[in-house]
Amino acid sequence: MAVIWLPGLPDEENQMRYLPEIFANNRQWAETIQRERPGYLPGLDAPQSPRILWIGCSDSRVPANEICGLQPGEMFKHRNIANLVRPDDPNCLAVIQFAVHTLKVRHIVVCGHYRCGGVHAAMDAAGAGALDGWLSPVRALGEREAPTLSRLEDSDDRWNRLCELNVIEQVRQLAALPVISKAWDEGRQLSLHGWMYEFHTGLLHDLATSTSGPGEPLPA
Ligand SMILES: [Zn+2]
Repeated sequence: MAVIWLPGLPDEENQMRYLPEIFANNRQWAETIQRERPGYLPGLDAPQSPRILWIGCSDSRVPANEICGLQPGEMFKHRNIANLVRPDDPNCLAVIQFAVHTLKVRHIVVCGHYRCGGVHAAMDAAGAGALDGWLSPVRALGEREAPTLSRLEDSDDRWNRLCELNVIEQVRQLAALPVISKAWDEGRQLSLHGWMYEFHTGLLHDLATSTSGPGEPLPA
């Protein structure tokens, strides 16, 4: 029995403290998979060999595996607010190093999404918290791109365009990392992609930023 439930506590208190509904969902999920695909879950005990590293936003509305139609074991993931690739972020760098040089993924996808709250926060005046520090590259990008963005009359259009420009910028940052150059120098097949996800259609859009080597120019 994986669920904690204290008999002395009112049901509401137990639910608030221990999230038993999540364990109920989990049992149902595991039972369904074992019924429909016997042997699949035990097979995941074998070492993972995903083809794709996904670098996405932490946003709860972007369920990476589901929107890509991929199963557990098929996509390695790193998520943070506004899907940033920061050369000063050891967490992200460690994920990329492990994915590229240990798992030997063939593709890295930076996937942003329209109406990203992180990007929106970076369009406001900077505050002093950890989130403001984290978003500083997006704020700087917004300032650099202000002449282009100001041509868009609608504020939502400016917001969404900055979401796209942010993804293109992260693909650039990714391509410039030594860990990526090393893979290309070794002749490894590794492609970088910039995608956007749209909530109201559920569709992914390729921003045509893909590159498979240092000789391939990224779009301006
Ligand atoms: Zn977001």
